[in-house]
Amino acid sequence: LGTDPATIADRMPLLRPVRTRLDVADGVNDCQMIHDTFSSGIASLSLSLDFMSRRVTPDHTLTVILGDIDTEGLPAADVYARAAAMLRLRHIDRIIGIGPEINSRSSSLPAGSVTYPSVEEFLGSVTPDDFRSELILIKGSQDEPLGNVARLLEKRRNGTVLEINLDAVVDNFNFFRSRVRPDTGMVCMIKASGYGAGSHELAKTLQSQGASYLAVAVHDEGVDLRQAGITMPIIVLNPAVDDLNAIFDSHLEPEIYSVDFLRSLIAEARRRGIKDYPVHIKIDSGMHRLGFRLDTLPEVIEVLSSQDYVVPSSIFSHLCAADDPSEDEYTLRQFDYFERCCVMLRSAFPGRRILSHILNSTGITRFPGQQRDMVRLGIGLYGIRTMHDGSQDELRPISSLSTSVISVKHWEAGTTIGYNRRGILSRDSVIATVPVGYADGINRHLGYGNASFCVRGVLCPTVGSICMDSCMIDVTGIPGVQPGDRVEIFGDSVPVEAIADTLGTIPYEVLTSISQRVKRVYYRE
Ligand SMILES: *Cc1c(COP(=O)(O)O)cnc(C)c1O
Repeated sequence: LGTDPATIADRMPLLRPVRTRLDVADGVNDCQMIHDTFSSGIASLSLSLDFMSRRVTPDHTLTVILGDIDTEGLPAADVYARAAAMLRLRHIDRIIGIGPEINSRSSSLPAGSVTYPSVEEFLGSVTPDDFRSELILIKGSQDEPLGNVARLLEKRRNGTVLEINLDAVVDNFNFFRSRVRPDTGMVCMIKASGYGAGSHELAKTLQSQGASYLAVAVHDEGVDLRQAGITMPIIVLNPAVDDLNAIFDSHLEPEIYSVDFLRSLIAEARRRGIKDYPVHIKIDSGMHRLGFRLDTLPEVIEVLSSQDYVVPSSIFSHLCAADDPSEDEYTLRQFDYFERCCVMLRSAFPGRRILSHILNSTGITRFPGQQRDMVRLGIGLYGIRTMHDGSQDELRPISSLSTSVISVKHWEAGTTIGYNRRGILSRDSVIATVPVGYADGINRHLGYGNASFCVRGVLCPTVGSICMDSCMIDVTGIPGVQPGDRVEIFGDSVPVEAIADTLGTIPYEVLTSISQRVKRVYYRE
């Protein structure tokens, strides 16, 4: 543009990030919703459409519901013409305009667009059943009531949400990527539905960040990802013989941990006329869960060498105590053992490049010298620190679990709260009921004041037992608490590690225990 570098450098610090927030949630009738509320300028429309295009699946048509566009001082006719051009370029199947301005300019929108002068008119003319298997982008500014449109189309569950910050996932991914060589591949573990965070959105985010592989625990998770439009290679860690059809049909790459399984896989590949199907050879270097040892590896090599339907694409092993410095001697022996297995396998296939990988999240920060060809990133991606020596302090939590107060009552000292009268009030108290219980994944051991949830910035201890679908917390002395107030169970104010400590378990278990009935909402900052 002809601006000299000195001027650019001067002005760069004046740039302000565009404040935006994109929520992704399940909608009615198999719809997927992207809700963007912060700004309605033309530049942010383009960003939102980009975000949408990365979420396209074969099963969804594309719908954009657009409020009046903020013209930011430019001639309105030009701005609407540019918006129309963007929508045409993206092949949006269905366009709905809502607002006085866009309604009066409906002729400049692509043919077939429908407009309404107000949200009320829209809500009066459509029902949720008018939407089916659509990827719907709702784009309006904060002061427009398009939120009511979003609420109409959102799948109803309870008021409890697990919010997942996709930008924090990206930051964590980059934290680990910066700890390894640029050419080291990143395998992202999204088993157990992304450690509870939900796999599709994470997979899409990681695919666009350039991860080399995704790894899932069972083939169903892999099939789901393919249906959600994930095209990158996917490793299945615990495949079974009765999953073979799904594995080939969805092009999933199985871990090989037994010769019997390998033989069945080869037979099926031959039947299908497939050559060079990639598989990943698992070595048991010390975990003693699954995998080959030095004495069983020769048989695998023999079976593999005798055919070309299936080929080893990588060899890998898992550390069992990477986060425990007192076991470092054992970990070092795991590295040695693995190296001997790598040498044995590779020398049997001299012409083939077989990748090797052994490091998990903690391993990446503690043993970067062992990064080999790839590393496997799990819990760290989700922002959980496994080391507390400062080495992982840059990780960001990615999720927060919250709900809202549904009832507030005053009780006199001596009153008992909940089942078996286990919560006894020692003073006059204000007790709030919140709609989360053990069926949502709130462990019963968090009752009796063992845990506190955050309301209006104050930690409020639980009172009495956790019920199936609700529990009670003590909000005495917090001014103005009322139904509808947000209650954070974990997130910015209560780290998930604290809950794990209270329960005597690890964050992995807390995260994977949040039940599927809790709505997942994904957002970008
Ligand atoms: C779960 C898992 C990982 C990731 O471990 P984290 O400790 O979560 O980083 C890596 N490899 C295998 C085989 C796993 O099962």
